[in-house]
Amino acid sequence: MVRAEGVCKSYGRLEVLRGIDLEVAHGEVMCVIGPSGSGKSTFLRCINHLEKVDAGRLYVDGDLVGYRQRGDRLHELREDEVAHKRRSIGMVFQRFNLFPHMTALENITEAPVGVLGRPKASARAHALDLLDQVGLGDKAAAYPNQLSGGQQQRVAIARALAMEPKLMLFDEPTSALDPELVGDVLEVMRKLAEQGMTMVVVTHEMGFAREVGDSLVFMDEGVVVEHGNPRDVLGNPQEERTQAFLSKVL
Ligand code: ATP
Ligand code: MG
Repeated sequence: MVRAEGVCKSYGRLEVLRGIDLEVAHGEVMCVIGPSGSGKSTFLRCINHLEKVDAGRLYVDGDLVGYRQRGDRLHELREDEVAHKRRSIGMVFQRFNLFPHMTALENITEAPVGVLGRPKASARAHALDLLDQVGLGDKAAAYPNQLSGGQQQRVAIARALAMEPKLMLFDEPTSALDPELVGDVLEVMRKLAEQGMTMVVVTHEMGFAREVGDSLVFMDEGVVVEHGNPRDVLGNPQEERTQAFLSKVL
């Protein structure tokens, strides 16, 4: 579903991604850990067309991200083409970015109706079903400021799912939450994984990575230092840098 081959990305002279090779199979959950500034968010942003890759190739579902290939030439995609591709990828950020002036239900139906042109009634029915799935069946009429951080984050997940994405990206979805609210959000993500969603999850939640992740990547300074079965990477890290990082966070 996602394939990165030698992906590089710089901001000016700062090389943030320095040759990332990774593959996420259909239905797989890949967790990504690593120190601050190692390029985790940048990698997700590249997958989601929010940044352009400078070198290497990135594919989502067989499609080159950001470019079209003609012969051996690459042509940048137009804005509207990028927007179209981005629809099939859901992304959830650290800070819940719900529209504050809309109810939970309106937040969820906005894009399916406005972007995909779905009929209002069916978008509503789907949204109510998604709210049920994230345990918020009774909060359809609530505004974001009437919800806890964990509830807002679950609405954000439901909103992403309303677009029926083939891939979900999570960038530290629980880092901004009070500890007692983290579990409910991780539970929703665990269920989503069980339903077969392909997911890339940047997280500090090592328990989640161990139990839900099919693979775990340790990134440092823009490279993949270690990649493998989460139990192996966490329990028996091979690289010194991984060992040093884990000794600080475990
Ligand atoms: P964290 O754990 O703190 O979220 P991260 O691994 O997600 O870190 P990134 O956000 O990918 O790291 O950032 C990697 C590096 O790229 C950092 O040094 C950051 O300052 C830099 N960077 C990120 N975005 C930009 C940008 N738009 N312009 C310039 N530099 C940037
Ligand atoms: Mg980040």
